[in-house]
Amino acid sequence: MPELPEVETVMRGLKQRVLGRRLAAVEVLNPLVIAGPADDFAAGLSNRSVAGLRRKGKTLAIELEGRNGQPSCYLLLRLGMTGQVILTPQELPLQPHTHVRIFLEPGSEEIRYRDVRRFGRLRCCTSQELETIWDRLGPDAPEISEAQFFEATRHRYGSVKSWLLNQQMLAGLGNIYADEALFEARIHPLTQPARLSAASARRLHRAVKNVLKRAVNRQGTTFRDYLDIEGRPGNFSVRLKVYQRTGQPCRRCGRPIRRLVIGGRSTHFCPHCQPRPRRVAVPRSSKRVARKPQY
Ligand SMILES: [Zn+2]
Repeated sequence: MPELPEVETVMRGLKQRVLGRRLAAVEVLNPLVIAGPADDFAAGLSNRSVAGLRRKGKTLAIELEGRNGQPSCYLLLRLGMTGQVILTPQELPLQPHTHVRIFLEPGSEEIRYRDVRRFGRLRCCTSQELETIWDRLGPDAPEISEAQFFEATRHRYGSVKSWLLNQQMLAGLGNIYADEALFEARIHPLTQPARLSAASARRLHRAVKNVLKRAVNRQGTTFRDYLDIEGRPGNFSVRLKVYQRTGQPCRRCGRPIRRLVIGGRSTHFCPHCQPRPRRVAVPRSSKRVARKPQY
């Protein structure tokens, strides 16, 4: 699932390639991935130029200039599990699961939105609507201060793994980078956030930032479907220390990496480097609960 580093990579790619270009026409092939009526979506975006790109957490907003006296608006993208934003020449054949085509001018390229599992959503919104949606998210993970981070852990008695995934606490982490950050900080995933000492919280805060920064520098991680806008996979997979490495030797101590299910999510950790604290959160049911889109 695309997390902050993958979305950041897509945003940087778009910044280089589409800033200043006009969305000449928008074609929705599958209205399921559009929030609201597809016709309004297409009409709202068409004939506007790309004025800027913004990201908060795992969501990406393309700012579009005003037209005919109307104010600017945003195309908000949430890539869900398998969403891909690809910039491609218009003459290339459509790949299966292409749901939206956005034709660009000048030139003969288009942005295509592909999504095999269709959990992603595209929405046309005003700047006010965008702020309302983004206000529901916690601080963007690379921006959060140490004090804010520590404060957010107080009175939280679930597992720190679920806490890291909660976008209202901290926006940007998903399963991959949450596991990697906990390993780097040497914190057991079932630790209760409220019981983290100031020193442990500081280590985790630093680990979150470091892991995200390293992943952004390597254009993200590709497990299943993530690709950048040119169709290239991310390069961070080889650097993963615990994620999806169950049974393989820990890169720090050599003992096998273990897997646990916490809140329905696979969790990978080293029981030696991340010792279990005396009091831990009780893992919630391992039943996978369908997660609602977060905007
Ligand atoms: Zn270890």
